[in-house]
Formats: sequence, C-alpha cells, structure tokens
Amino acid sequence: MNKTIDFRSDTVTQPTPEMKEAMFNAPLGDDVFGEDPTINELERYAAEMFGMEAAIYCVSGTQTNQIAINIHVQPGGEVITNVDSHVYKYEGGGIARNSGASVRLIHGNRGRLTAEDVKQWINPDNVHLPITQLVSLEDTSNRGGGAIYDFEEIQRIRKVCLENNLPLHLDGARLMNAMVENGIDLKTYAAEFDSISLCLSKGLGAPVGSLLIGTKDFIHKARRVRKVFGGGMRQAGIIAAGGLYALKNNVARLRIDHKHARMLGETLEEQNWIKEVVPVDTNIVVGVMENPDDLQKVLSKLEDEGILAMDFGPGMIRMVTHLDNSSEDIDRTIEVLKKI
Ligand SMILES: *Cc1c(COP(=O)(O)O)cnc(C)c1O
Repeated sequence: MNKTIDFRSDTVTQPTPEMKEAMFNAPLGDDVFGEDPTINELERYAAEMFGMEAAIYCVSGTQTNQIAINIHVQPGGEVITNVDSHVYKYEGGGIARNSGASVRLIHGNRGRLTAEDVKQWINPDNVHLPITQLVSLEDTSNRGGGAIYDFEEIQRIRKVCLENNLPLHLDGARLMNAMVENGIDLKTYAAEFDSISLCLSKGLGAPVGSLLIGTKDFIHKARRVRKVFGGGMRQAGIIAAGGLYALKNNVARLRIDHKHARMLGETLEEQNWIKEVVPVDTNIVVGVMENPDDLQKVLSKLEDEGILAMDFGPGMIRMVTHLDNSSEDIDRTIEVLKKI
C-alpha cells in the first residue's frame, strides 16, 4: 500500500519532529493572565516581523477575522468584500451573527477587489443605506485559486479607504505564500492595512492557530473580543510554540510548494478530461473539468491510488500543495494523473 498523499488542503500537515521538539520544550503560563512566555514571544516576534505594534494568538483564522470585523464595524454597518471571500462564504454568516453587520459583495477577478469597486460601493450618507465601515481583502485568494494581489492595486484601495475614513482588513490566511512570490517587503506591505489575520496552521505547517496583527490599541480591544468569543486559552504556549517555529523556519520553503503546484498544474492541463487550469500563482491548483459529471470518478480513481484531492464546487477539482509533500509524492501523483 502506497503512502497517502493528501492534497485536499494545506491544513492537513503534521508537525515535524523539530517542531514537536520546540513544542515539548516551550515554557508555559496562563495566557489569559498574559503570562505565557511562548505566546508573548510569538506575539512580539510577529509584530516585529510585520512592522506593526502588536499581535494576538487565536484559535483559528475564522476567529481572527471575526474578531477584527467585530472591532471595525457596528451593528447596521456594512463590510465591502469579494463574493468569494472566506470572511463571507466560509465563516458561517459570522459577519451578521457576531457583529450584526451586512455585506456588500463584489464580483471580481479571482477573489480580488479593485479600487474602483471599493469607490463605487461606499454608501453615501443616506438614511436608507447601511453605513460602509470596513473593506476586507484576501491575499492569497483561496476561491481565486491562490491568486496574489498586485501591490499597486492594494495601494490604490488603501488610498480610497483613507479618503473615506474606512479601515482596511486583510485576511492573510496564506499571506506568506503571496510574500515569497510578490517580492514586496513585508513591513511595506503590512503598512497598508489596519489589521492582518495570518494562519499558522496552513502552509506554514503549525498544528493550530492564527495571529491577528495591528496597533496596540486594536490588539487591546481584540483581547476583550477574543475572551467574549470563548477564545481565551491558558497554557496554550504548547501549541503556539509550533507557530513560532513555523514563522522562523517555514516561510522561505513555501517556494517549494509553489513549484510542486506548478508541476501538478502543468500535468493537469495536458489531460483531455481537463478543460482548463486556473493560473497557478502559489500553492493552490484548480482544474475545471471538461465534463463536470466526471469529477467524482476522477476523485475516486485518485483515491484508489492513495491520492486525495477536493471537490471544489461544480466541475472543479482542487489540489493544494504543502510541506508534507515530497518531490517523490509529486512525481508519483503526476504519473497517476497521466493514467486516468
Ligand atoms: C483557512 C482560511 C481561513 C481561516 O480558516 P480556519 O480554518 O478558521 O483557521 C481564513 N481565510 C482563508 C482565505 C482561508 O483559506
């Protein structure tokens, strides 16, 4: 029996022995008291890395996004975001449920917004309309097949936000995948945002956790909201140590995942059962089936060979590369894909 090769998501990674060692040896304390040295170090390290004032370690990317939205908007307010964004599509209606706010959904190119979109959909001061209170971007875009923002577009969006007194939030679940490709200095990039959410549990390979990064005042508010959302943890340094290890060691190697993804994308493109492959910018490969009805057949043929991929909506197959894929795994997958 071959080893299972899991491309369903980059969330499936196992901590490496070195990461486990760091977790095993982490000094711990009660983080609700602010006394976990490992979490304090992780938060300091991340804030410094991003050139921002402060950070807070949270359970998940959903939690960091929802905390940020809760601070930025009031009930009856409105968030401008892309229709495919995680904050809208995959957080259980949390914007309405947790914050009582509505959403202005923009259809755009591979999960992204433009400055023109934002400008067009900021509501004027009119009693009929919800008050636009936040713009939320996603980089890389998951539904957009790992698409990266053009930094100049982010700067144009920021300018529109500043002109209209609107905060700008980034769902940077896979931000590091964008940063190793876009060549922009992280601090320069981060300076365009009021708050940034970063997943440690995706391509970075930690078992649990996300960071929310922003100003001191913002993160002070976030501590209160995290507690209200049930996210105050105690000796959580034992898991945060995996995140700290990941930030220190697993960023540059994301390029390997991207190379693997391009190889899979090129192979998929050559198959007659694939109509097209969404351009592979980072670690996400999305193939559009020639015949949507064949999707389940393809997935189960792959599964018979111990290769797991994901049904990504009607007629679409998604494969995400990550640090548990060796180059041998990629070679074997390419052979299997060619034989389907
Ligand atoms: C995974 C992901 C999140 C957060 O997901 P959690 O499973 O809650 O950690 C947020 N945004 C995007 C774009 C994601 O892919």
